[in-house]
Amino acid sequence: MTRERLHITSHVRSRPVFLALAALLATFVAAPQLFADDPYARSRDYDLQHSKIALRFNLEQKKVLGEVTHSLSVLRDGTAKIAFDSAGLTIQKVTVNKAAAKFETTAEKLIIPLASEAKAGDKFDITIRYEGKPAKGMYFILPDKDYPDRPSQIWTQGESEDTHYYLPTYDYPNDRLTTETILTVPASWITVSNGKLISVSDAGKGLKTWYWKESVPSSTYLITVVAGEFDEVKDTWRGIPVTYYAPKGRGDRLPINYGRTPAMMELFSKKFGVDYPWEKYAQVMVDDFVAGGMENSSATTNTSKSLVHPKLAPEYFTGEDDLISHELGHQWFGDLVTCKDWGDVWLNEGFATFLEAVWTETHFGKDQADYERWNSAHEWFESASLWNKPIVRHDFDDSSEFDGNAYGKGGLVLYMLRHQIGEDAFYRAVKHYLEVNRGKNVVTADLAKAVEEAMHINVDQFFSQWLYGAGAPKFDLGYTYDPEKHQVMLSVKQTQKIEGRVGLFRVPVDVEITTATGPKLYNVTVSKDKQTFPLAAESAPLMVLFDMGGHVLKSADFHKEKKEWLYQLKNASEVADRGDAAVALGKIRNDEEVVAALGDALRNDKAWGIRATAADTLGQLGTASASKLLLAELDSRDAPWVRSHVVSALGSFKDDPAIVTKLNSVAKQDDSYRARAAALQALGRLKAPAAFATLDAAVTADSPDGFLRNAALRTFGSLGDDKAVPLLLQWSAPGKPIDSRTAAINSLARLQKDNQDVTKQIADYLTEPHFSVRMAAIYALGGRGDATAVPALEALLKSDDLSIEMMPMIKGQIARLKKAADGKPGSASSSADTGEESAEYTGSSEKLSTEQRLEKLERLLQEMSERLKSMEKRLPPPKQ
Ligand SMILES: [Zn+2]
Repeated sequence: MTRERLHITSHVRSRPVFLALAALLATFVAAPQLFADDPYARSRDYDLQHSKIALRFNLEQKKVLGEVTHSLSVLRDGTAKIAFDSAGLTIQKVTVNKAAAKFETTAEKLIIPLASEAKAGDKFDITIRYEGKPAKGMYFILPDKDYPDRPSQIWTQGESEDTHYYLPTYDYPNDRLTTETILTVPASWITVSNGKLISVSDAGKGLKTWYWKESVPSSTYLITVVAGEFDEVKDTWRGIPVTYYAPKGRGDRLPINYGRTPAMMELFSKKFGVDYPWEKYAQVMVDDFVAGGMENSSATTNTSKSLVHPKLAPEYFTGEDDLISHELGHQWFGDLVTCKDWGDVWLNEGFATFLEAVWTETHFGKDQADYERWNSAHEWFESASLWNKPIVRHDFDDSSEFDGNAYGKGGLVLYMLRHQIGEDAFYRAVKHYLEVNRGKNVVTADLAKAVEEAMHINVDQFFSQWLYGAGAPKFDLGYTYDPEKHQVMLSVKQTQKIEGRVGLFRVPVDVEITTATGPKLYNVTVSKDKQTFPLAAESAPLMVLFDMGGHVLKSADFHKEKKEWLYQLKNASEVADRGDAAVALGKIRNDEEVVAALGDALRNDKAWGIRATAADTLGQLGTASASKLLLAELDSRDAPWVRSHVVSALGSFKDDPAIVTKLNSVAKQDDSYRARAAALQALGRLKAPAAFATLDAAVTADSPDGFLRNAALRTFGSLGDDKAVPLLLQWSAPGKPIDSRTAAINSLARLQKDNQDVTKQIADYLTEPHFSVRMAAIYALGGRGDATAVPALEALLKSDDLSIEMMPMIKGQIARLKKAADGKPGSASSSADTGEESAEYTGSSEKLSTEQRLEKLERLLQEMSERLKSMEKRLPPPKQ
């Protein structure tokens, strides 16, 4: 039960893993709960063909009042009843072909006995009138006493199987239907649903009725209903309406963040050879969303965190494009062609993740795409729990199927497939796959078959190892040069443990050998545990690159001399190879040549990702010369995405007044808000003199969306000065901006640990409606180590509202607190060091103190909160 949480702490060690951390934390935030009895697609009794869904809302009681008419066709002879999924809804009346019908309900089903046994092909119109207060699936975000000015919003989140909490229906992906959605709402509201807007009409009593019609079939988890007070910006692509919506008052943020959508639609339509398949494309951004984004057919819902303030948006190299291109990509992969069961969800998520990279390489350039892929591969290797699980699997007992294999590894596998068979063959196969399976549900074999049919390339072995098998190759590499034979002897060992679903890999690899006369490329295929490849080389190599460009998902330990790494950092043509060199050089301590080379990369590399990596590495090396180079770099006019790394790296050098002075000046004034935030954080980490005053001033400083204030609030925890407590209590209180509250709660967790009033205050936030506040409070209590919080957490476990979805997380924190109380009485602050969790955490070579751990966590949270906006995070929790 605590496994996912263990996993989180096990990630805290390393820099590039914050995405994985975010995804895991999000597991608990998003958490639509699976209810399916088994992980395979259901057998069907009927084909649901069309649903006419009419909804009204009781805003006071947060209730939905619905009438739905399902048109369905029976699939087998002798069908005596029709069962719909329905949870927590009060069914008032059911008619079958307009005649009143009997019905019964269970916790998860509405069952309607038919008057007589039906035959295959018999058609029925079943109308259900119902009402209910949805526990999930539909969310009411309305003004309240703490947030009286908040724009009203009602929105739904169907995936994976939550639609039936607000609509009795067939709630599994393996059926497809068209819809009419008829929404009656206050006249000043806007609604968004699937398909075309047919009409908006006066419904009397200050209400209007919006009528939407979707004529392209899709699965019920892709049904969407959004209603509320929104601003709207209209755009178009090839005559198709493209519309963006923001909660009222934030419409000015739409163009800068979302304006590239039509260009993405054009790119994907051309690449796939299948045009964008829906009648319109809407993206509606909502507050308190339980996911980063959701690709409802023709009408994506995204978190309003993606509406970055226009003054901050230019500080992010790729903006919100990862999220936007991901959800758009799903409109083909997920919506037009849908996984048959969740075990094949990588066919949705792997493609969508891959398509982020396709947009990135086209719009932002190859270096950026390569840098992101290099990071993504590192992240995947850091996620130890993903290692022994295949991408395609049906054993979800203790983990989520929406995991880093379906997303990150799935995307990398598609990238490898494209690299191996070539761009042209890949997209011809993709076109065939989309055309053959358009409007259908698919399993992984359908993709393999499409590649074979379109290109006559058999990919069975590739699919077997990468999709049905687990793990990835780990290589131990070295070479010798034979001057007589003019030959490089490249030795390759596969060192991954062969067990379970992890086998030996067969991979084609590009090897580049550079000598004085220039580079030469060789293709070798590695397939055994130990192999030696003789490769011609006129003279002793200056550089040997195995898997040049880093196309294969792998880890590699290449035994090279320092001078070759130095040469590689400076001369390798591909980002991945220069990145590998920077990382390798970072392990060579106290070497001025290394520091100088990293300084050169920091100043001169053409890819900003390598410059940022060089800055991080100089910070880790921690020598006086390294800090000098970083300080000097601060005087240049670096872009914010590099500058923030430089500033952050300076937070590793203790007791250097010159650095503190510089950080103070950046914190107070700089062109980049990201750099200023990084400076505040670095000062806190260094526990610099007067840091308290600097942070205190930043809390009141004027910055877009309180960006600096939130950075300061987050940093008080690592500064560790208890006099911040009153300020943090003030900013954690209801009514303050949500981002400020979560930042303050994170810091409160680490201060005045023996003060039970603070614990009680944090515990009070457990029952709030805001997901992020709740999550922050739950974690803060667990990390704080004060066992007096246990009853509050236990009460939360028993509540029957949304927080029930966070059960595994809450249970984990309770266990953590109890262990602390049992194990080391009187030593609350040591709680984080007890139990399995820390065993996993300190499973690495370095054993960190609680304080170091929390500092790292705090840094990760900072980065995470920046990245969360572009993260899709709708991951269900481990099954109960
Ligand atoms: Zn997705």
